[in-house]
Amino acid sequence: MDDCIFCKILSNLSPADKILESDRVLVIEDKYPQAPKHYLVIPKKHISDMLSVGEEDRQLVWEMFNAVREVVRKKKSLGEQGFRTVINNGVYGGQTVDHLHMHILCGRPMSWPPG
Ligand code: AMP
Ligand code: ZN
Repeated sequence: MDDCIFCKILSNLSPADKILESDRVLVIEDKYPQAPKHYLVIPKKHISDMLSVGEEDRQLVWEMFNAVREVVRKKKSLGEQGFRTVINNGVYGGQTVDHLHMHILCGRPMSWPPG
């Protein structure tokens, strides 16, 4: 997708601070962090949102969850203090980049309900 910022990052056409990478998933630092630590778990395949995930993406979804586990292993304080994962979808969901991704937020207590 030519105008997708995450596809550009995945193609190394745009810079990002990479945390870890697997066959199907890249984890980067969020450029505009909303918590002391804010990471994005991005599938390498361009999928616009959760509603577009298909049965053929089962392995990919597992790798996204596994990437969260790997980040927690790498950044020990997440496991000790806890963290929040978020997937925003569509306009009311607050999605601003139309390439599926999971946020990992941590380093401060999270409130509920979210805004
Ligand atoms: P969402 O609003 O759920 O679609 O999340 C998109 C996220 O991507 C936001 O938290 C942005 O701060 C983040 N973001 C946008 N552009 C970049 C970029 N070039 N590098 C890293 N994160 C980005
Ligand atoms: Zn994309």
